[in-house]
Amino acid sequence: MNFWSKLIPSKERTTKYWPGLINAYRDLLDIDNKTHIISLAEGNTPLIPAPAIAQACGIIGLSVYIKFEGANPSGSFKDRGMTMAVTKAISKGLRTMVCASTGNTSASAAAYTACARANGYSDAKCIVLVPDGYIAMGKLSQAIIYGSQVVQIAGNFDQALNIVRELADKYPIALVNSVNPDRIEGQKTAAFEICDQLDGRAPDILCIPVGNAGNITAYWAGFKQYAALGLVKNQPKMMGFQAAGAAPIVLGHPVENPETIATAIRIGNPASWKMAKEAVEQSFGLIDSVTDAEIIEAYKLIHSAQGICCEPASAASVAGLIKASKQGKIERESTVVCVLTGHGLKDSQTALDVSEFKPIRTSATESAVAQALNL
Ligand SMILES: *Cc1c(COP(=O)(O)O)cnc(C)c1O
Repeated sequence: MNFWSKLIPSKERTTKYWPGLINAYRDLLDIDNKTHIISLAEGNTPLIPAPAIAQACGIIGLSVYIKFEGANPSGSFKDRGMTMAVTKAISKGLRTMVCASTGNTSASAAAYTACARANGYSDAKCIVLVPDGYIAMGKLSQAIIYGSQVVQIAGNFDQALNIVRELADKYPIALVNSVNPDRIEGQKTAAFEICDQLDGRAPDILCIPVGNAGNITAYWAGFKQYAALGLVKNQPKMMGFQAAGAAPIVLGHPVENPETIATAIRIGNPASWKMAKEAVEQSFGLIDSVTDAEIIEAYKLIHSAQGICCEPASAASVAGLIKASKQGKIERESTVVCVLTGHGLKDSQTALDVSEFKPIRTSATESAVAQALNL
């Protein structure tokens, strides 16, 4: 009998609609009852048991769960912060959103701006700055089809963020990067959901990829708030993982030319650096780096051994857990949640490039197919 075979009492079975995360957690968020909410029913993402990942860690009694953030409306956790950031921007009378992005922020900002247009703000606009050539095609195509103005700059994310900060200072436009506290406020709901999904306790360990470091900051804020309210008795160790070629927090200095296959965390000077360090220190966790080879190995495992579809940057959480396990840093019988931050379909080119499973070509007859398969 596994997790999925447990009988659920029919009164707990529900297909009732989910009201979006602001409405669901309104009493715990900085939002008043009169604000017109811009939502695409984000949040309420699945917490999936991951026995294959637990096995790869080789720790006795380890329970691993995946918080699958790819299930959000635009395919990444960025939607949690964006529902709040766009809602607040609109309520302040701003109509133009701007962000710098490694891809997912732009897809999300573009989606929520389109949602604002659908909900009575027909003049809402979105401008996104992305590093030319370093954004997965799925993300770029989302930003375009949701109707935002994409600006590809000949520079990296850190430079793009500096530019949009200046633009937001000069013009009446809303900066919706995670330097905007409304983003963190929305994103902390993922920690609430995990505690609710684990029946009123926090995991022992949370593993999470770190780029600009807004998300690790948000999760820690959420876990602390739930503990302060007495809704959980424990708090997790926060374990953040950067890509080795873009690991400023691990190295202790900014990285001028960050490089990694995990483009969503290709960031050399994280905006929430200090807060990420605080989260790690206060929770007795750790921050470490994982190589692109370790990320790709975890990325393949998550797909082919576990059946979950995530993008390369997301796999840094699992790669980090496996690395920490091998180093003896994970206690027996721990409950671990790995956050898979974005959906794999955003970056199908990487999947095709790295998988050892290759399609075979045959003519269109039963015998040719059977022969090609050695049946
Ligand atoms: C944005 C993003 C990250 C990094 O999150 P930060 O809050 O910038 O640390 C990780 N994975 C994916 C898929 C992302 O889109």
